[in-house]
Amino acid sequence: MKTVVLKFGGTSVGSIDRIKKVSKIIASYKKKRYKVVVISSAMSGVTNDLVNKSKLISNNFDLAEYDALVSTGEQVSCALIAGRLQHIGLKSRSWLSWQLPIITEGNYSSARINKINIKELNKYIKSGGIPIVAGFQGINKNFRITTIGRSGSDATAIMLAKYIKADECIIYTDVEGVYTTDPRQHKKAKKIKKIFYDEMLEMASLGSKVMQPTSIQDAKLNKIDIKVKSSFAFKSGTLITNSKKSFSDQIITGISSTKNDAKITIVGVKDRPGVAASIFKPLSKNLINVDMVIQNISQNGKNTDLTFTIKSEDLKKTEKLIKENKSISYKKLSFDRNVSKVSIIGVGMITTPGITYRMFQALAAKKINILVISTSEIKISVLVSAKHVKKAIASLHKEFKLD
Ligand code: ADP
Ligand code: ASP
Ligand code: MG
Repeated sequence: MKTVVLKFGGTSVGSIDRIKKVSKIIASYKKKRYKVVVISSAMSGVTNDLVNKSKLISNNFDLAEYDALVSTGEQVSCALIAGRLQHIGLKSRSWLSWQLPIITEGNYSSARINKINIKELNKYIKSGGIPIVAGFQGINKNFRITTIGRSGSDATAIMLAKYIKADECIIYTDVEGVYTTDPRQHKKAKKIKKIFYDEMLEMASLGSKVMQPTSIQDAKLNKIDIKVKSSFAFKSGTLITNSKKSFSDQIITGISSTKNDAKITIVGVKDRPGVAASIFKPLSKNLINVDMVIQNISQNGKNTDLTFTIKSEDLKKTEKLIKENKSISYKKLSFDRNVSKVSIIGVGMITTPGITYRMFQALAAKKINILVISTSEIKISVLVSAKHVKKAIASLHKEFKLD
């Protein structure tokens, strides 16, 4: 008997009708004689609503209480799914993280799953039951509720698949799989049949919301193949894997973009060793993630300009930290909230020269100005004005024959 882990995202359980629909999908696996474990997210919009409530209570809401609060959405959806499965004659019950438990380590709101105790779960599965496990949440060594970062149910599913040694792990969502770019942003996006972990990890980290980056790291580390499918339509999906069998020969696999980046330029900082470190030290201490960085070549050997990007929600805090930083001096500080990062991703670029040129040429042809560039072995990212993102994606999608 094969074991399958089925994960349902927020839209897939977004209404009573949707919950009835996913219960049918779950029942169909049971009919095919699978052992089934289900992970569910909260109904769509619920977690955002809880996050907003915490902000209305305090602009400095305690993170441990934040986790206790925002993890509650999953309890509702899991109980509703279990209730519906019982209604159609199947044995099912819900499980919250502390009831297994799912042990996490690390900071509140961004903890990571460390271990899952599957003893009770296994007994229940053996007895013919279908466990419905709450995604996104865990408990730490102080027995307090934790959450593992937004969209974390993906990672819960992968880690459960690891611990119960599942034969398959299927992520059900509201699109038919992983596309060459967000199908809601670009009509010509195409479904990808197979994608390597490394490419999916870059796409997810660079803004393709369909999978959470940590979950892909976990899948790669534990060699767990993931299928991404639609819970709305009965269609073949995307396989995320390391297996090299029958991959297409596309050079570029996908294009991602971000929404909430901000660019900061510090004009006229001293051009001497240690200055960049002095600027970034307080940011790192305050858990502000610096993404792209460029430093201009100094014209006079004394002063230079430093530009970097952060998430726009960190902009106010960053501005304050730079202004309060006594160990640096500068002439001017400027900000731009309306920037986005557009990236092309593909393992094919390792062996194909000229990709950077083609990317820049395609953007230049559309008169799109590149503000910052960063590259790795399998991706090239450019920062552009947010108003150009759609145009940039369309031109790159065409240039790299993804249309
Ligand atoms: P879920 O609630 O099921 O976890 P998400 O909203 O987290 O779903 O992810 C699905 C969404 O990801 C899609 O609706 C789509 O708009 C977006 N998306 C972004 N980039 C891509 C991509 N390359 N392929 C597919 N979907 C993408
Ligand atoms: N409900 C959580 C969120 O909205 C976790 C998830 O959807 O995976 O972030
Ligand atoms: Mg998601």
